[in-house]
Amino acid sequence: MDYNVIIVGSGPAGIFCALELIANAPHLKILIIEQGKDIDRRHCPMNTKKGQACMSCPECELVSGWGGAGAYSDGKLTLSPEIGGFLTRYIETAELQALIDYVDGLYVHYGAPVELHGSDTHAVNGIKNLAARNDMTFIPSQIRHIGTDKCRDVLSNMRKAIDGKADTIFEKVVQRIIVDKKKVVGVKLRDGLEIRADFVILAPGRASSRWLETESRRLRLTLLKNPVDIGVRVEVPASVLEPLTRVTYEPKLVFYSKKFDDRVRTFCVNPYGEVVKEHIKGIWTVNGHSYSAKRTNNTNFAILSSTFFTEPFDEPISYGMYIARLANFLGGGVIVQRLGDLIKGRRSTPERIARGIVEPTLTDSTPGDLSFVLPYRYLSNILEMLEVMDRVAPGVNSRHTLLYGVEVKYYSMQLRLTNCLETEIHDLFAIGDGAGVSRGLIQASASGVIAAREVIRRQR
Ligand SMILES: Cc1cc2nc3c(=O)[nH]c(=O)nc-3n(C[C@H](O)[C@H](O)[C@H](O)COP(=O)(O)OP(=O)(O)OC[C@H]3O[C@@H](n4cnc5c(N)ncnc54)[C@H](O)[C@@H]3O)c2cc1C
Repeated sequence: MDYNVIIVGSGPAGIFCALELIANAPHLKILIIEQGKDIDRRHCPMNTKKGQACMSCPECELVSGWGGAGAYSDGKLTLSPEIGGFLTRYIETAELQALIDYVDGLYVHYGAPVELHGSDTHAVNGIKNLAARNDMTFIPSQIRHIGTDKCRDVLSNMRKAIDGKADTIFEKVVQRIIVDKKKVVGVKLRDGLEIRADFVILAPGRASSRWLETESRRLRLTLLKNPVDIGVRVEVPASVLEPLTRVTYEPKLVFYSKKFDDRVRTFCVNPYGEVVKEHIKGIWTVNGHSYSAKRTNNTNFAILSSTFFTEPFDEPISYGMYIARLANFLGGGVIVQRLGDLIKGRRSTPERIARGIVEPTLTDSTPGDLSFVLPYRYLSNILEMLEVMDRVAPGVNSRHTLLYGVEVKYYSMQLRLTNCLETEIHDLFAIGDGAGVSRGLIQASASGVIAAREVIRRQR
């Protein structure tokens, strides 16, 4: 065997797996293989020049490289087992909470700020009650906000801690998982090199979930169904959401729509942040950021509606991509529309947007009409949610509110896994967003620790 453990992918899941192995089993020979670049060499060309069109790099710099999608993320660490993943399917909630506290402690150790949002129980309960009186569930959670600008420093510190204790190779793509008699024995890189190991831990993230799905089908692993989340990014004056964001940085509200009984929720709230475009696999979608040192006058958040397709349809990812592509087709990228225009059944124009009281933070979007893009079911769900949210945060449902479309969140396919995240192939583990076990930094990181602890147990 060349290595004891190979970790595929150096996002938060892969990094925390490596940190745990190094801390508790320093004798193990570990190799991390990453298709992107090292943290100090990661630069998205679009960030260099404002308005620069996506250059479709072979591996997207935004989501590939040391730190994975975490490097350019907003760095909101959500410290609740109910948010950011599905690890409660594998371990008890209390055990997960302990694990969350443990990985959160490591983030702080490597430079995340000490300040926690959402600790004022009295104020949190006030929001919870107000939401309940208005047909919504408020999911309380403490949040540590690193900020997009600081994430790289934290990840660089982790890189330094791992350097010299585990081998790392960059800009190499793992193409195949090598299996012999239902036991993993190594991986094959795209350039043909085969590397052997006792254990392989797959942490490829969401952007490579298609690759993992293809490999899983080839290896005849069981795949479970997942939903797709489709919606818009909403932008309002920061003062509108201030009563909520002051108490809890990221107010998570869940609503079951009256017409369709669909689960609709707020997601990724960015107080005083900006709306950004995201280019993944040839499609523009929308997202949001907030920074620790830079503030705008607006707050943005997503409203997402989840759909679980039933037989015979089995391609939620393609469906989501199709809708995002439609927005790109009509708007040449991301479409922005004032809520008032949408309700009146007319498109937004640059003049109408300019007359509004919300100045768009994403200037590189096309004023248009989202009703040509989003199916009725999603539009109806979004409009209902804005209406009920207005009772909790007056002003959300204003005609000036900006809606950017579309925001799509794909859930990676889910692999059948044991409680320690091992696949149906012996010593082959799958962790993080790519395996469908997490949806955020904290649970992705926690999943890495779960797999590492099992490897250590078996090595004893
Ligand atoms: C814009 C944005 C903002 C976000 N903001 C937040 C936030 O505020 N809070 C939060 O909790 N979460 C946030 N997230 C989500 C968070 O970033 C992810 O949940 C987390 O990064 C998942 O970690 P991961 O290790 O599973 O995968 P990733 O971070 O995606 O890392 C996977 C790594 O594997 C590599 N890889 C993939 N396939 C291969 C292969 N075949 N060979 C070699 N290497 C491979 C990739 O290049 C990548 O570097 C955000 C995501 C984005 C995109």
